[in-house]
Amino acid sequence: MTDARVADVPAQDTVLARIEDDVAIFTLNRPESRNALDDVLIEQLDRLVRAAEIDDSIRVVVIEANGPAFSAGHDITGPEPNMEAGGRKSGNPAYTTTWTGAERRLKREQRIYIDASLAIRNLSKPTIAAVQGHCVAAGLMLASMCDLIVASEDARFADPVVRMGNGSIELLVEPWDLGIRRAKEFLWTGDPITAEEAHRIGFVSRVVPREELSSEALALARRIALSPPVAVSLVKRSINHTWDLMGQRDSFEHHFMVHHIAHNSDESRAIAEEGRTAPGGLREYLRNRDGKYAR
Ligand code: ZN
Repeated sequence: MTDARVADVPAQDTVLARIEDDVAIFTLNRPESRNALDDVLIEQLDRLVRAAEIDDSIRVVVIEANGPAFSAGHDITGPEPNMEAGGRKSGNPAYTTTWTGAERRLKREQRIYIDASLAIRNLSKPTIAAVQGHCVAAGLMLASMCDLIVASEDARFADPVVRMGNGSIELLVEPWDLGIRRAKEFLWTGDPITAEEAHRIGFVSRVVPREELSSEALALARRIALSPPVAVSLVKRSINHTWDLMGQRDSFEHHFMVHHIAHNSDESRAIAEEGRTAPGGLREYLRNRDGKYAR
């Protein structure tokens, strides 16, 4: 955590930051791994988001991504994915612990996935995600934390985590974003939805050609930045509170525990182990996961 304004946050290549007038643009910058979200990236994005909160010169935040995909989700490379310290150590003492196993995972995920995600959701300023290509699992969770989503025509939203033996990602965003029945089909099949369908069901605000994605997101941000900032902030607070009154906060908390039960099921552990040891590696394993799961 930091008291720095956006311009004062030490630069890092995992998330680039630039300011255009009163819009802060944070760019996920691990295109070689389809912007897989490892701890280093998440911590840097969190520092920038918290800086945007206290930086009076910022009225709107845009989160975009370099490369062909917005984000492939959690970085699950490495021998013990997301367990000891992720793919790379962030060194953040907030979840450094001598605990091991399920306790450690619970503490780490609370900090790195729940707290960092909700900091975006609860930012007092409007946020816009600019999404292209694959937007998968934790990538979907990140986009969902933003108030608005602008997508390019090639955007594909998916959460194949149930197919990998877990009970969806840490924050169950789908019922809120897709509707209850669509959420079930989406999670049970793991099949992606297109930008067009996402737009039709109201998850995405607008769909634009790929080459116009960044400029359209910025144009929307600039338009919102013309409105009185306190009124904009207050209405965001009120709309988000409406979601809380509908049960979103309790639903998120309940699901996070469900997610951890699933982490520790025999089924989930077996699939994780298969993925680690599969010939051809994790990528090949995921390609083959369309086969029927049998215990
Ligand atoms: Zn998890």
